[in-house]
Amino acid sequence: MKNKIILFLLLLGFINIQAQDVRYAHSIVDSLCSPAFYGRGYTNNGDKKAAAFIAGQFEKHKLAKFNNNYFQEYHISINSFSKEMKLSIGKTQLKAGIDFMVSLSSAGIKAEYKVFRIDSSNFKCQTDIDKILKKNLSNKIVLIDKQNITDKEVLEFWKKLKNENTFHSKGIAYINDGKLSWAASDGKQVKDFIKINLLRKALPSKIKKINIDVTADYLQDYATQNVAGYIKGKLYPDSFYVFTAHYDHLGQMGNEVYFPGANDNASGTAMVMDLARYFSMDSIRQDYSIVFFLFSGEEAGLLGSTYLANHPLFPLKNVKFLINLDMLGTGSEGITVVNATKFKDEYQRLVNINKEKGYIKTVAERGESCNSDHCPFYEKGVPAIFIYAMGGEFTEYHNLDDVAQKLPFTKYNGIFNLLIDFLRK
Ligand SMILES: [Zn+2]
Repeated sequence: MKNKIILFLLLLGFINIQAQDVRYAHSIVDSLCSPAFYGRGYTNNGDKKAAAFIAGQFEKHKLAKFNNNYFQEYHISINSFSKEMKLSIGKTQLKAGIDFMVSLSSAGIKAEYKVFRIDSSNFKCQTDIDKILKKNLSNKIVLIDKQNITDKEVLEFWKKLKNENTFHSKGIAYINDGKLSWAASDGKQVKDFIKINLLRKALPSKIKKINIDVTADYLQDYATQNVAGYIKGKLYPDSFYVFTAHYDHLGQMGNEVYFPGANDNASGTAMVMDLARYFSMDSIRQDYSIVFFLFSGEEAGLLGSTYLANHPLFPLKNVKFLINLDMLGTGSEGITVVNATKFKDEYQRLVNINKEKGYIKTVAERGESCNSDHCPFYEKGVPAIFIYAMGGEFTEYHNLDDVAQKLPFTKYNGIFNLLIDFLRK
């Protein structure tokens, strides 16, 4: 009996040690997506509060610090919208973040402008383009409806418009049929015209004037920070496995809404923090050191990871392997490994472990892509891959519906176990 009890306790302990903790991950995502962090942008110190929260967890798990500090400060310059934001057309008041999005490249503005509409009735071919470009639209907003426009030259012309204000108008407003999305990278440079996306179904039938009230604050040399902690290896403390993820998201769009960013990338942040929790347990300390980097500035253009790659906390040649995690909230279709074709042995190891244990449906390979925080390290010769989850069960992206409550974390346990097996072997 006694033996049985001991066996039972051992099993219990074993299970405890083995267990990835999806509840822990959910609680991290809930916190990071809460209003207290303002969408983890640079307004209301959202980034600093999120970084302090992450550091608090690192402290709890007794992670070691580089230079006596979990934070690595650096500076960014970016536009921001944390104050008034209103847009109305006639009597129709549109909802920020749902019915309209203002590009972060836009300066503050408070005015009512007449609209010049361009659609398939007056914009069918090159002659139409030439005609409209001769008009003086400097006091108007050009409203663009691309529906039913098929001419190749005209479509080519739209592409250019993305970054230029060819009409020299006060602004450009696009009518969209699908859900609107937003990007923080637009905010690196403030342009001299306002760019708006409008949701067709929210618009009144006649649009004569657009009334806009946007307050923008350009944050010059704003101090933000990466968060870093590590667990010292037993045999090779100067050789590092590295897990990375970005904790920043898009922040606020006006004073009424913020982007929660549950899948992008509270999900990856939570897994990195869960891995830190797991590997910090004494009984599973590894031979190699394991480092955890959580970056800000990703959405503005990989700024945090680029800074850390340029100002490493230890020599980058000591990185044994780096795994970046971004968008892990799904998984019904498995994972994709960016740089799999560059690091075939490591990729094959992931495939083999998964074949043996059956954690997830597929471990798909993909070539190089500078689409997340592994990239600045990879470009410096660090062996690095980027893993993201696949699956159509949750598709919200860069909109207000990327919320914690709906994040499925379908294959959280499988992906987590795959990663710890990968490191243990
Ligand atoms: Zn993103």
